[in-house]
Amino acid sequence: MKKPPEHYPDWTRLVVAAWNEGMKNMNPSIVAVAAERIKSQLLINFNGEEEKPPIIRPSSGLTCPTQSYFIREGAERTPMPDTIQAAFAMGHFAHELAYAALKSGLPKGFEADVEIRVDTGFPDDCNQKGTADVVFHRTAEAEEGWLNPDEPDYILGDLKTMVGFAWRDHKKKSFHEQGIDAWGHLAQLAVYVNSPTLQEKYPGIEKNGALLIGVNKESPQMGLAPRRISPVVLADASKRVAKALETTSWPGPWLMDNFPEVETAFYCGTAGRKGYCPYSKACKSARATRAANV
Ligand code: SF4
Repeated sequence: MKKPPEHYPDWTRLVVAAWNEGMKNMNPSIVAVAAERIKSQLLINFNGEEEKPPIIRPSSGLTCPTQSYFIREGAERTPMPDTIQAAFAMGHFAHELAYAALKSGLPKGFEADVEIRVDTGFPDDCNQKGTADVVFHRTAEAEEGWLNPDEPDYILGDLKTMVGFAWRDHKKKSFHEQGIDAWGHLAQLAVYVNSPTLQEKYPGIEKNGALLIGVNKESPQMGLAPRRISPVVLADASKRVAKALETTSWPGPWLMDNFPEVETAFYCGTAGRKGYCPYSKACKSARATRAANV
């Protein structure tokens, strides 16, 4: 990759440049590792294993404490559609391809540490392990002139595959507004950035913010769309996660009560949509009971 006249002003610009460079000059041995990982993940996707009992985990709807409440209550879930494995398989493929491009394209002395198994710090009845997608790291071998010296030496990133509309929307979003985290992306980043394992490996990483990286799965040639998330926003998301983890009594339809209807329509099954939330039926029935008792 050609060194910029001065340096890339921040991690988002370096990540985009590295992906572009990796796509132009993919390292064959890195692609070979990615191909093996895609193959083994594909076999896992379709090995017919039964769905495990639900447990509160970083990928649960941690934004909505009502979901955590229903998991603890053992409420009936709407099962995932059988066809969902196709989406999961494509998601793994997109992740591996992005990792391979980034590892191939980052300048010498910069690393992408991917799929890091970490402790979540969650209570006993929750999933105490999780996998952080990637930490970008400027090592002691990094040449000067690539990245603004004021940028932190490492930063957490999370890759989110998106269809074209959501990807374009992601590029425009302000991650400081209420109503931006109905999918729980910020909550998930907050869990990993505060993980004791990650903090031990990368001291102070929680102070560096994080990157929420959109991956366009409809038009993958459009590249990556990393957005910088500030430590303040992550601290706010951490508070919401703590609330979700502690919730043991019915908190009401929390997401609906706190987010704009246009966002909750997808999750909660309002506005005539099918709810993405596995507890949308249980939540609807609890709301009806509450309304009847008013
Ligand atoms: S339907 Fe909406 S408010 Fe109810 S549990 Fe699901 S995400 Fe939360």
